[in-house]
Amino acid sequence: MTDNNQAFYKALAYRERTGLCIICREKPAVRMTCSHIACMERWCGMKTVGSNKAAIKVEFEARELQWALAVAKERESSKRGTTARDKRYRSESDNAPKHDDIETHRIGILGELAAAKVLRGKMNTDFGVTGKDMPDLVIGGIKIEVKTLQGYLAFREDGDFRRGIAILVTHQKGENITVQGWIDAPAFHEKKFYADFGYGKRPCVHPQDMRPIMTLREQLEIGVLVR
Ligand SMILES: [Zn+2]
Repeated sequence: MTDNNQAFYKALAYRERTGLCIICREKPAVRMTCSHIACMERWCGMKTVGSNKAAIKVEFEARELQWALAVAKERESSKRGTTARDKRYRSESDNAPKHDDIETHRIGILGELAAAKVLRGKMNTDFGVTGKDMPDLVIGGIKIEVKTLQGYLAFREDGDFRRGIAILVTHQKGENITVQGWIDAPAFHEKKFYADFGYGKRPCVHPQDMRPIMTLREQLEIGVLVR
């Protein structure tokens, strides 16, 4: 375990035990810090340093970025129970998709595309309404869920990751799309910790506790993973 990783876990444990800001250790914590700007900045620094040693940053071509935006708009409209085609005949104010929702989809799609590029896989471009139980990527019959998040791999609850493989792709506001690593469900539950960043307690794994992404590609190529 690296020093940074250890500091991260200690900070979580400290916040849990004392309810105090993990940086100044004086004022009550709102989430992880007391919300003083200097404390928040230091905590954000701690979070962003935590990258996997074998992480791969993925660059996109202009046509890939355009494609991701088009798919994001399609997903947003399918989620809203209408198709892009229907929407052309509606007024803008009536049922216009929210910019933030499209951006969330776009980042998720870029994450899937980044993982597919690194793994040389084919993306599943079927549009799911909820995304639940629908694997993002299927390579050689193995379900791979790609989570594109700002910090570490997190699921809503323990039951959300029971089978297959999860890949963590990180980003900073849609930039610096980086494939961090992969983990299977048993390893996730062995290494997980719980963190509450304002949305309730979530099981999480630090990027540094995930396996190098290139080892997944090797294993997928030789086909040793159990389906
Ligand atoms: Zn503080």
